[in-house]
Amino acid sequence: MTFEEFFVRLLYPALVFILPSERWSAIYFATALLAAFYVYWRFAERGPDADATTAKQRGFLRFLFPKEIWTHPSARADYAFFVINKLLIIFVFGYFALGSETVAAWTGESLTRRFGESGEGWSSHWALSILTTLAVAAALDFGLWLSHYLFHKIPFLWEFHKVHHSAEVMTPFTAARVHPVEDVAAASLGALSAGLAYGAMGYWMGPAAHELTMFETNVVLIGFYFAAFVLRHSHVWLAYPVWLQHIFVSPAQHHIHHSADRAHWDKNMGFIFALWDWAAGTLIAPKEYQRITFGLGDRSGEEVAFRSVKGLYFRPFTNIEHKFLRPALARLSALFVAQHKDRQG
Ligand SMILES: [Zn+2]
Ligand SMILES: [Zn+2]
Repeated sequence: MTFEEFFVRLLYPALVFILPSERWSAIYFATALLAAFYVYWRFAERGPDADATTAKQRGFLRFLFPKEIWTHPSARADYAFFVINKLLIIFVFGYFALGSETVAAWTGESLTRRFGESGEGWSSHWALSILTTLAVAAALDFGLWLSHYLFHKIPFLWEFHKVHHSAEVMTPFTAARVHPVEDVAAASLGALSAGLAYGAMGYWMGPAAHELTMFETNVVLIGFYFAAFVLRHSHVWLAYPVWLQHIFVSPAQHHIHHSADRAHWDKNMGFIFALWDWAAGTLIAPKEYQRITFGLGDRSGEEVAFRSVKGLYFRPFTNIEHKFLRPALARLSALFVAQHKDRQG
């Protein structure tokens, strides 16, 4: 790594607000701001002031930046974690995640070895490009959903995912409140799924399997970022029509995902598409506005332990040690003692 590269990487936590391939880019904040204004204008009571008249008197800025949210200890932990974690991702953790290009190349080679050289493929056509783009986006999204599902359902993985759900208030920075173990696993599963799809389509269709990209990113993903994606981690409730929430995950559906209410646990685990949740029976498509309390709720009530960078990184490990490793070791040593007694007796 040259000094120049090192310096650019050092700026990464700030670059994510500029680079259009990053979901924190200012261009996505711009469309989210427009959407937030629409919510304020139509439903001012959805902000911190439950009364629409008071909310309108206090104005849009107060609606957008309630002090009790942006200065909450949970939000302050998010800001510090954001910078430190982005640096660790660019310098360390990023190397551990699988890349979709690698998987696509490997898939193509494996198919060639198994079934022989692929033919000339199909001639390029815009419809095939759209098909490829949709298929790759769907595959990526399914990989991310599956990772999210496993992190909810497997108890020791849930200890890592708790980091994300321990947020007591949500700001756009909360989107980065993800433990590196989960970050690497989710990125790898997404890349594996997308790479398999792209590699297989490339083998089958040849150069006609062309992924449409913008800012070197699948256009479906870019379109999704533009659709007020930033609001999914915020206090601004933006829902889509119910039928559309069966296809695309709305910001409001992700608010429900973060709800402390038992009825909402393990629901709406989708990233772009709601179809996987719909199929798995874990979809909630809200018809009306609901005031949601974010956090872990009765699931563990350990939110305070996650209000620091140290807690966000290390609490999962101490939890795993106490809940899984120590009991397992205790069982193992009891077994050993019992066997030892048997032998003696
Ligand atoms: Zn979230
Ligand atoms: Zn979750």
